[in-house]
Amino acid sequence: MSDSFTPQVAIIGGGPAGLMAAEVLSSAGVQVDVYDAMPSLGRKFLQAGVGGMNITHSEAFDTFCTRYGPPQAQAQLQAALEQLPPTALRAWVHGLGIDTFVGSSGRVFPTEMKAAPLLRAWLHRLRSDGVRLHVRHRGGYLDRLFCASEMLDWEAPTGGYLLTACFASGKQAGSGVLEWLSQQEKN
Ligand SMILES: Cc1cc2nc3c(=O)[nH]c(=O)nc-3n(C[C@H](O)[C@H](O)[C@H](O)COP(=O)(O)OP(=O)(O)OC[C@H]3O[C@@H](n4cnc5c(N)ncnc54)[C@H](O)[C@@H]3O)c2cc1C
Repeated sequence: MSDSFTPQVAIIGGGPAGLMAAEVLSSAGVQVDVYDAMPSLGRKFLQAGVGGMNITHSEAFDTFCTRYGPPQAQAQLQAALEQLPPTALRAWVHGLGIDTFVGSSGRVFPTEMKAAPLLRAWLHRLRSDGVRLHVRHRGGYLDRLFCASEMLDWEAPTGGYLLTACFASGKQAGSGVLEWLSQQEKN
């Protein structure tokens, strides 16, 4: 982004997808506001941590990508997953100070099996980077709106596939907005 202009982006939905989009945009110098209807962020993510959260899967990337359906969704998700494949997602988790391990099923878990320490560390880092987080704000239709990844039309079995796709599509959405902003700057 140019020095003279700080673009601002509002993201509706503070789950893994929205927060990942916020991270991508904020690290490129965009002023980001995340709005969530609930009294706190990442509530479903926290629920995922209750019974032992698998955050991704260790199987080979090509096989991993075949787990999603229907076929047109698989093609769309593949592009997102290439931006944040499971190995990169695992490294990203480690970057937040959270260790992971591979279970006997190949699923990848945070060492403590919980989501709360990861979410706490992530929200802290986002706030430190200047992302403004707003709760109890319900977004309606807005032009150029980004929302939850799960609202896209895809399915996957349990085993870390859901979260990986949500993080990855959040990253892809953030990168897409950056591309759009840079086009606007050129025009
Ligand atoms: C019990 C449980 C266990 C799970 N375990 C696992 C697991 O082990 N591994 C795995 O991979 N996945 C698991 N999942 C799935 C995983 O948690 C979800 O796939 C993931 O949270 C989806 O992320 P998201 O950002 O797309 O959507 P969400 O997490 O649903 O976030 C969307 C956010 O948008 C907000 N929102 C929606 N509409 C509006 C609006 N109009 N205005 C403002 N805010 C709005 C919501 O309040 C929400 O906070 C589990 C889910 C549950 C419920």
